[in-house]
Amino acid sequence: MEEMKNIQWFPGHMAKTRRMIKANLPLVDAVAEILDARTPLSSRNPEMDMLTAGKPRIILLNKCDTADEKTTAKWVEYFKKCGFSALPVDCKNGSGIKNFLPMLKNSTLKAVVDKLEAKGMSGRPLRIMVVGIPNVGKSSFINRMAKAKSAKVEDRPGVTLEKQWVKIDSTAELLDMPGVLWPKFDDQKTAEKLAFTGAIRDGVLDIETLSMRLLTKLAADYPDALKARYKIEIADGDTGLTLLEKIARKRGMLILGGEVNLERAAITVIDEFRAGKLGRISLESP
Ligand code: GDP
Repeated sequence: MEEMKNIQWFPGHMAKTRRMIKANLPLVDAVAEILDARTPLSSRNPEMDMLTAGKPRIILLNKCDTADEKTTAKWVEYFKKCGFSALPVDCKNGSGIKNFLPMLKNSTLKAVVDKLEAKGMSGRPLRIMVVGIPNVGKSSFINRMAKAKSAKVEDRPGVTLEKQWVKIDSTAELLDMPGVLWPKFDDQKTAEKLAFTGAIRDGVLDIETLSMRLLTKLAADYPDALKARYKIEIADGDTGLTLLEKIARKRGMLILGGEVNLERAAITVIDEFRAGKLGRISLESP
């Protein structure tokens, strides 16, 4: 995974983002951390707990439409045990979104809301910093919450000019943090899962290797999904390569001389997995 680190990890960006998070933390009541419901651990920035220590946290398990519902429910329990609120959402279609503010007010920030009320300040909007790795659905979430595009809050004193306040309604505002928070690339399993979902650029791992690793994983965790999609049988000794060959043959992906076109089959498998055509699949369980 050496090459991944070199391509994707820009220490300068990370340092700036880290500073901005720390500097802006005192301005918010809570942190909303967006994760991919299929890979809740791999799609976390490893420093988030340290960077936002002491702030109430709500975890949004986004893209829950693509993940295994039962596994997502286990993740909700897992994060609750860690002391966070957790909510499955689908920012593409909007499901789960309406639960965000009620969960924030009645659970994540209940103590803060009660305190504001006691001080006669119940009119003051709750402020939430939104963080997440690239591609996890941060913009989709903010756009869903803001509804109107011109929802920026102007002239708010802040630590830097680049960040942006987005108003949800009179009761809550989001702080959209610019800058990039990378996930952890230096662990091969993590990097692989991020590549399966398309969270990191293609070309980082070659497509055939990536596809064979995905097939090995699916054959172990979701064999029925593989069999149903590609009409293949899975035998005990099958490897990523033999599975990819079976799929290529079944789909008639051949090159001159009758050999299987592994590259084409690999692209198909990855594309179809990402498009959700194999069904709802979680790549990590708590
Ligand atoms: P950002 O880089 O974190 O701001 O991510 P974006 O909001 O740009 O989303 C990245 C991609 O994920 C886009 O293609 C979105 O359409 C897609 N996406 C975002 N939320 C969801 C979701 O809940 N479900 C699915 N299936 N796709 C989503």
